[in-house]
Amino acid sequence: MTTPTVKISRDQHIWAFSADMAPVVTVDPGTVLEIETWDCFTGQVQSESDTLDKLDLTRINSATGPIAVNGALPGDSLSVTLIDILPNEQGAGMVIPEWGQLIEHAKSPTTRIFKVKDGIIRMNENVTFPTRPMFGVIGVAPAEGEVGTFLADRHGGNMDDHKNGIGATIHLPVFQPGGQLAIGDMHASMGDGEISGTGVEIGGKAIIKVDLIKGKAGGWPITETADAWYTHGTTADSIDGALKNACEEAAKLLVDEWGFTMEDAYIFLSVAGDLGIAQYCHPSPGSVIARMRVPKISAAPHPFKM
Ligand code: CA
Ligand code: ZN
Repeated sequence: MTTPTVKISRDQHIWAFSADMAPVVTVDPGTVLEIETWDCFTGQVQSESDTLDKLDLTRINSATGPIAVNGALPGDSLSVTLIDILPNEQGAGMVIPEWGQLIEHAKSPTTRIFKVKDGIIRMNENVTFPTRPMFGVIGVAPAEGEVGTFLADRHGGNMDDHKNGIGATIHLPVFQPGGQLAIGDMHASMGDGEISGTGVEIGGKAIIKVDLIKGKAGGWPITETADAWYTHGTTADSIDGALKNACEEAAKLLVDEWGFTMEDAYIFLSVAGDLGIAQYCHPSPGSVIARMRVPKISAAPHPFKM
């Protein structure tokens, strides 16, 4: 059943994931919702003259929600399936001053407007490419305090992994009763690393389904697709640390859930796992996010044994 029974508008949103945030809706596991999300600039970028220096930077990365799930308790996973992601017709990408892997080569802040239609993104008359819709921000209430939606940590947040696209299920570790899911920062497309700091930033709608896995959770969000599961690791600014965190999480699950020895998990991940970068737009004030792709095999078909 994929007909949404609950709708949430883009104006029901948060700017930070906080431990004590109140839900806008409480639903049962298995509920299908339609959510609307703002683009990360909250509609402030409409033309190529709208460069970052002209924006109100307090209005960046809203996340629609929070959505509480009945029965979610610390130690569980709140599993959200992105059944469909439907971008609007115009998005934007940017060169942001002092950000990213090529910034010393860029002459000026630049905004590029993209048109999106029928699954194709048009950058200019020569450059077109297929959409790969995904959400940058997917998270739940953290263990304590407040984490802005610009950052990523164990609760998720600004994960910026394009594997969080149509058909993926993201298993978020629950830290607070109800979990308190919020989602935003849609991209019509975003590459590994997001090296300038933006995807094709766009608003839109999505159909999602929420569910629970009782008594099982990763150390960070885990993304499951048809053929693989992906662990994540985040740090403030160390790609080495993020990569190591993603590796350790994958090995831990193979050992704890599927009975691998640590040595066999280590070798299996070396020969069949794919270590990669989700987000590494540095320098920038954002987090660094790595992932480990673990192929679904009969000996470890899911992140958790159930
Ligand atoms: Ca982002
Ligand atoms: Zn974004």
